[in-house]
Amino acid sequence: MTDDTHNRSDGPRIDTDRADCDRTVTGGPAGWPDDWPDERPLPDGGSEAASADILLAEDNPNDAEMTRRAFEKGKFLNELHVVGDGVEALAFLRQEGEYADAPRPNIVLLDLEMPRMDGMEVLEELDADDDLAQIPVVVLTSSEAERDVVESYKHNANAYLTKPVGYREFQEIVRQIEEFWFDVVKLPSEE
Ligand SMILES: [Mg+2]
Repeated sequence: MTDDTHNRSDGPRIDTDRADCDRTVTGGPAGWPDDWPDERPLPDGGSEAASADILLAEDNPNDAEMTRRAFEKGKFLNELHVVGDGVEALAFLRQEGEYADAPRPNIVLLDLEMPRMDGMEVLEELDADDDLAQIPVVVLTSSEAERDVVESYKHNANAYLTKPVGYREFQEIVRQIEEFWFDVVKLPSEE
């Protein structure tokens, strides 16, 4: 696992022209195109779709719904768990309270700006936990400036994605996350 993924021009990152972006999602999920391919090749040539539990910590319902819709169209990442803030995210990861039976996520997608506990605080908690620090984290930033802030702290996030505003941009993010996932699963399992 490298920590310079976000610096690679071909890495799992996406940049959008923020000047043209509008955070408002127009049309909503119901109006999105349904043009994902029916079949996608598997990296190992097998016929079984890989399965992953993904924890999405995202307080914006539009962003969360877009992510869910995009993953539902994916072939590999088929279990998306959504929590609305950092407190809930940590409870999920630590299997506390209502999350006692929660699976251990294969990947955490972490929004930075969230109520109660923001993404940076979650990263700090994960860094301090030898076990949870092993889970790959993809930080979802809303701007290049936010990405810079995250990098300046040098927490152990594995990748940074600048959040898009449109469905097609979200498709691209999901594609990049799937590529990221395959990089992860190629690593020797510690279990
Ligand atoms: Mg947020």
